[in-house]
Parts: sequence; C-alpha cells; structure tokens
Amino acid sequence: MHFITRFAPSPTGYLHLGHARSALLCAARATAEGGVMLLRLEDIDRTRCRPDYAEAILEDLTWLGLNWPQPVRRQSEHQADYDAALARLAQQGLVYPCFCSRSAFHARLPAIGPDGPVYDGFCRPLSLAEREARLAAGHDHCLRLDHKAAMALAGPLEWLDERTGTEFARPEFLGDVVLAGRENGTSYHLSVTVDDGLQGITHVIRGEDLFHATHIHRLLQAVLGLATPVYHHHPLIIDPATGGKLSKRDGSTALRHLREQGLAPADIARMAGTGMAPTPGG
Ligand code: GLU
Repeated sequence: MHFITRFAPSPTGYLHLGHARSALLCAARATAEGGVMLLRLEDIDRTRCRPDYAEAILEDLTWLGLNWPQPVRRQSEHQADYDAALARLAQQGLVYPCFCSRSAFHARLPAIGPDGPVYDGFCRPLSLAEREARLAAGHDHCLRLDHKAAMALAGPLEWLDERTGTEFARPEFLGDVVLAGRENGTSYHLSVTVDDGLQGITHVIRGEDLFHATHIHRLLQAVLGLATPVYHHHPLIIDPATGGKLSKRDGSTALRHLREQGLAPADIARMAGTGMAPTPGG
C-alpha cells in the first residue's frame, strides 16, 4: 500500500463540522490515491474519554458514508507500545521526571508558545539522587522529553508539509513536552507519533491547530527510529461566534445535532467546505 492516512479523533465529545472536514479530506485523498484511510481512536485520557462518545464517532462517520479497515486501533489497548517507546527514549537519556505542579510552574511566568505555556525546564537539572529520592517518596510527577538533548542527538531535521513546503523542525516551539502524565501512562505527542509509525502512515492530514505539534513529532520520530510521513495541515473551520476553532462543548455544529435537524451527508460535506460527499461503500 503506497498511501495510508488516518483520521484520529479523541472520544471526548461528539464529532462536529471541523472533524467532518478532516475525515472527508482524509477519505477523499485516500480514494484519489488508491490508498486507505485508517480510523484510530485516541482514547488515552482516562478522565475525559468515554465509550459512548467512541460509539457515537463510529456511528457518525458511518452515517457520513465513510468506511475504514478493521480493527480500529484504540490507543487505550496499546500501552505496551508506548511503554516500549518511553523506555527507548529513557535509555538514550532523553526523559526526566518533572515534579512541578501546574500552579508552581505558571507562577514562574513561563514563555507562552503556540500551545500555551512552554515548560521552563525547572526539573531538568535535578541530580539522579534527588530524582530517585523524590520518586521513592512518591512525589507526584510526569515524565518530560529533554528536547535539547534529543535535538543534539538527532541533528537538524526537516519535514514536508504539502501546503507550506519543506519545514525545518523547531521542537523548541513546544519544548520539553510531557511524554507520560500524572494520570495517563502516555501523552498525545508520544502515542500519536508511535502509532503513525507502527501503522505505516504515509500521509498525515489534520487541522492546522496541530501544525506546531508536528515539530515535536518529527523529533520523536528521529530518536525513536520511525519513518516521517508527509503532512498536510488544513485550515480550520472558524466559529463565527468566538473567532476561534469549533469546540466540542458547543453542540450546535455536532454532526448528530445537524442530522437530527434533517441535514444529509452531502449538506455536511458542503458545510465542512469540502464539497466532497463520499459515496456509501466507496
Ligand atoms: N486526537 C487528536 C484530536 O482529536 C488528533 C490527532 C492527530 O490527528 O494527530 O484532536
């Protein structure tokens, strides 16, 4: 298979028009390339993901006329893959425990990056003895990527975005990202990079709100020995009420709400700005 893309929603709410845009673009492109679109449920956040949202996602996408090969990869079933990647990063000295509470970190007035406050590396210089003592005492912590050490190991990196051309990786946009959280054994950045690699994804098509994340994903690919897909970050549908991206909290653009209003899949495709209504079974 030469072309493998994926649609990777998180079951933390109902799909809305913004998701429809991503899913329809992925599916149309897979069809045009004679390839395949996989569906992946990014359900690692134990506090926010719900099984009923996961079921609703499958139902909404089927109603839209999309299909995908089985099995659907559910991230919550693959912690062993993320543990193995974490161990590989740790062996290379690229992981450190961070004991900072959110409030302590924010009180230090960190720099604000494209995704919010960028961790200032406060816990990075802790000695091994200090780390071990705090871990042994059961102090709350997450695990972070030492992005500078990873960059030193990987050297200069590039990736191709179909809309913006060759991008030089700038992992410092997001800095020492979390690899495993306090409550979850993996993070979005780690699991998405591992999965794209393990599933042989050749093209990642997703919203441009994730553009900066790709800089970190490229670095993780390099230090985990994973292939780099081609990327396509498409424009988002802007919420006229807020001027920002559509939110799962505002149900008015939820696909199931629009369906209840009597709209058809072709209307959704038009409203999602793709104009590409998939043909059932196609
Ligand atoms: N799970 C992410 C989301 O729902 C998308 C991840 C990706 O496409 O890389 O926002």
